[in-house]
Parts: sequence; structure tokens; C-alpha cells
Amino acid sequence: MLFYKTKEEIELVRESSLLVAKTLAEVAKAIRPGITTLELDRIAEEFIRDNAATPAFLNYNGFPNSLCISLNAQVVHGIPNKDVLKEGDVCSVDCGVLKNGFYGDSAYTFAVGEVSEESARLLKVTRESLLKGIENAIVGNRLGDISSAVQEYAESHGFSVVRELVGHGIGRHLHEKPEVPNYGKRGSGLVLKEGLVIAIEPMINMGTKAVVHEKDGWTVRTADRKPSAHFEHTVAIGKGKADILSSFEFIEEALKKNINTKVTN
Ligand code: MG
Ligand code: MG
Repeated sequence: MLFYKTKEEIELVRESSLLVAKTLAEVAKAIRPGITTLELDRIAEEFIRDNAATPAFLNYNGFPNSLCISLNAQVVHGIPNKDVLKEGDVCSVDCGVLKNGFYGDSAYTFAVGEVSEESARLLKVTRESLLKGIENAIVGNRLGDISSAVQEYAESHGFSVVRELVGHGIGRHLHEKPEVPNYGKRGSGLVLKEGLVIAIEPMINMGTKAVVHEKDGWTVRTADRKPSAHFEHTVAIGKGKADILSSFEFIEEALKKNINTKVTN
């Protein structure tokens, strides 16, 4: 079943998505070599609760934390722990919140300190592939137009697209229909209509597209252990132009002031 949202409901998703954006900006202020991913998780959980919201991922199907933090070869669903971030790490942070009965969901991949040229390019291309997808999130297009735009962009730059994990509808539930793959055929699939709100989230690998699941039951990593990146926006389908409900602006403002990392995008 597809849930189409009213304008009022979309505004509530926007409020939740902007809180996610501001939470990720708190992470951006703190991220540096030497900090643990668990410390970043605590910063996020406190900020979310201080803003009268609930961390969406905490206890979701038993997930133990508020953020999914996935380093280097980890693609998504990494569990925060006491490992410290190192110079050169590629650190994907995925965050969701529930506020006023509606979810917001967004992810950003950070360069910790100075990263390799190839990692910086992976982050840039992944982020740009998300924007290519969003450009196609307009009334009258089909879902496959979003999927193929992401895929074509990422593959044309020599990277590969994870198949096993996809974007999703979002609203009163964290994960709603439709599934939003990052690969597919132009002109295929669901016709996009006003009121549809989706999370578009390319997961792009430097090497093989194949992934494996770690024994912790959550973490997904690349089969060849090469780096992976992940960027995600919550987006409302719009007439002529998509309405991006989440934002990277707060994150990037924070990164500019953080002398311990570098804006690569
Ligand atoms: Mg997410
Ligand atoms: Mg998502």
C-alpha cells in the first residue's frame, strides 16, 4: 500500500527531516580523529531527545543505537562502538527521528581528516548521484527514472551500485512502499505523483558491487573490503522540481568550522 501525504503531513515530515539534518550537524561539529563512534551516537541521541523527538533507529528491529555509523568498507547499518576514528577514514552516518508522528531520514558520509584522493572522489560522486536521482523525483516521471539516474551517474564514474539495499517511502512509518532502488531502467516502475514522500539513498562502492553481512546481524560491508559511501535525503515528489525535506546545509556549515576535518564535497 502506498501512502500519499497531504501538504500538512509533508510539513511534519519536513520538520522531522530538518531535525535529522541538525543532528547530523552536531555530529559534524564533533567528528575528528580520536573520537569513538559511540561518542557520536551519544551526542546525536541527546540532541534528538532535547528537541522533543525520538531516535528512529534505536530498538528498530532490535538495533542497539540511535545512529548507524559505517566506516570504510562498511556500507550501512554499522553499530557504534568504542573504536576511534582515524585520519583518512570514510565515515557514513545515518540518522532517523520520529517527531509528531512522522519520520525523517538522512545520511551523510564524512571524510575524517585528510582522505585519499580516490575516497574523496567516491564521496563526491555518491553525493552527486543522489542529486541526479532527486532531479528525477518529479510528478509524471517513473521510479525507474530516479533509479537509473543514480546508477548511470555512479557507474559512468567507475563506481558500483549496491543492489541489496534500497531507498523507501517514508511518513508515519520509517520504511513504507515503494522501494527505491539505486539501479533500474528509465521509464519503468511506479508513476510518481504529488504526495509521495521517499528517501533516496545511493550506496556506492569503489570496487565490486557485492556486499556481505557481518556476524553482528547488522553491518553490511563490501565483499572486496574497498570503501563505500552513502548519502540520503528525504524528498517529496514535486511538480517540475522535487522538494528536498532534509538538508546538508547545517552539516556543511558545521564542517567549515571544524578544523579537524575537511569538506570534500
Ligand atoms: Mg537513513
Ligand atoms: Mg533510509
